[in-house]
Amino acid sequence: MPSPFSPRDAIHRSPGDGWIECGDHRHWGLHGAAGLFLVRRVVDDDGVHLTGVVVQHRAAWSHEGGTWGIPGGALQPGESARAGALREAAEEAGIDPAAVRVLGEHVLDHGPWSYTTVVAEVAPGTDVLPVATDAESIEVRWATTAELAALPLHPAFSDAVAPLLAIASAA
Ligand SMILES: [Zn+2]
Repeated sequence: MPSPFSPRDAIHRSPGDGWIECGDHRHWGLHGAAGLFLVRRVVDDDGVHLTGVVVQHRAAWSHEGGTWGIPGGALQPGESARAGALREAAEEAGIDPAAVRVLGEHVLDHGPWSYTTVVAEVAPGTDVLPVATDAESIEVRWATTAELAALPLHPAFSDAVAPLLAIASAA
């Protein structure tokens, strides 16, 4: 059980920050949360090939600390999931929203709380070199899908990986 005070409180305090109960669990984000699943793709006659996924090694003090996930966090009041995911990716991983093309969304719905993963690719003609830009990350980097399968993932992210890869692989 995380302590009610965390270093997060001292880092960036946003109006959506806080815990909410869905009835079965405690979740971060009073207005829900969102993250960015960013891939590099090559599309040829054989179809779509995923050549990379941006992964975040989560700081030890964070919820499920030490596991791997994706850049993301609590939504602000009135903020769309897409806007929130892109804002968090810029804050936590230095990802330029202009270099990202959205492919789809995946929603984990827990009643009063939900987590939306925005699935996106690096926009053609651009590139993204993610870096850990705040204290929520130990490291942010590209991984292959084989590496992704072998990393100790945040449990909720692990449950979503198959549908996220399916969205990312759709033409
Ligand atoms: Zn829940």
